[in-house]
Amino acid sequence: MNFKVNTSCISCNSNNLTDLLHLGMLPIADALLKAPEEKEFCAPCTLAYCSTCHLLQIKEIVPPKLLFCNNYPYYSSVITALKKHFTESAETIISERQLNKDNFVLEIASNDGIMLETFKNHGIKVLGIDPAEGPANIAIEKGIETIVDFFGIQTAEYIAQKYGKADVILGNNVLAHTPYLNDFLTGIKKVLSQKGIAVIEVPYAREMLEKKEFDTIFHQHISYFSVTSVKYAIESNGLFLNAVKPISIHGGSLRLFISLENNPDPSVSKMLEEENVAGINTVEYLSKFETRIKDLKTELNNLLSAIKGDNKTIAGYGAAGKANTLLTFFSIGSNYLLAIGDKNKVKQGMFFTGNKLPVISPEELIDKNPDYILILAWNFSQEIIAELKEKGFKGKFIIPIPKPQVIS
Ligand SMILES: [Zn+2]
Repeated sequence: MNFKVNTSCISCNSNNLTDLLHLGMLPIADALLKAPEEKEFCAPCTLAYCSTCHLLQIKEIVPPKLLFCNNYPYYSSVITALKKHFTESAETIISERQLNKDNFVLEIASNDGIMLETFKNHGIKVLGIDPAEGPANIAIEKGIETIVDFFGIQTAEYIAQKYGKADVILGNNVLAHTPYLNDFLTGIKKVLSQKGIAVIEVPYAREMLEKKEFDTIFHQHISYFSVTSVKYAIESNGLFLNAVKPISIHGGSLRLFISLENNPDPSVSKMLEEENVAGINTVEYLSKFETRIKDLKTELNNLLSAIKGDNKTIAGYGAAGKANTLLTFFSIGSNYLLAIGDKNKVKQGMFFTGNKLPVISPEELIDKNPDYILILAWNFSQEIIAELKEKGFKGKFIIPIPKPQVIS
């Protein structure tokens, strides 16, 4: 497998990386198989900490083209909670910034155009950029102009020249995905207008650490940002972090407000101080993470094994990237689960990475009549529970994180 191991920090370039969690060999997430015997790509996955700029990061870098371009099955519009989140977020930006038809909104990793749609409906000029052809083509069919490419300095310069500078740049769940962090941030600097704003959402490392959300760690997610580490990265590329807002999406995220001018509101220093008090940027705190995750593995395996011992059956739900990490690292497959359900039709009929379990529709899963459903896409568990109950599922649910919990 063609991957590279970073020995220096992707943000500050120092060599002060300390390994925190070894996930072992992990199949590439979201690369579902057409047949169980199909060969799959695996690479080691190690979470490390940079003691110079405090960035948590994966050391093994798989080429982004392998991860995001072909058959990328992640369509934002499929997830109702995401659709609502993006629509509300877009409406807020439009009213707060008083955007109109003279403004230009650029979205990086625009996926199927779910968020840009709202701006377009208000008559605002929009442009998307996304390397995944499938979702990008759906956006284009909806009339949302989309460049099929990765974002960085080169594409930023091209966009600035052809379309002008952007009043608003959006980037949801993408900054953490790039192995070229500085190229990406300098790209934002090059295409953002002087008074413009970049609104960037990233999963929050503090939530991951405190709530043991280790399953968000996989090759697509290279950086795990705290306010401390993201501020360092932003400022070292000539930008300023002027506000930060915690939001609940993806198990806890940060919405970052970035500009070319330095004008911070109190939210930035407040969150920096909270991180200092909690000690989340210290080796002392971080070095306990691996043990906490291994304890969780024992707890979940004990629960599943007790259920099986009672002659009850269990199925999984949510064939997401995080399920790949959780099931692989916890050694959960056909030893416990009948199959994995997912409502995304692109995934149905495929086989899951690592454990080769069949991925089936929610209806087929309910037909198998499992006593328990282990919710792997736990960040959408409310939505999943409601949907499966509505479809007639009468059994119990297991939520694995932060502590295995059974819900009737
Ligand atoms: Zn660093």
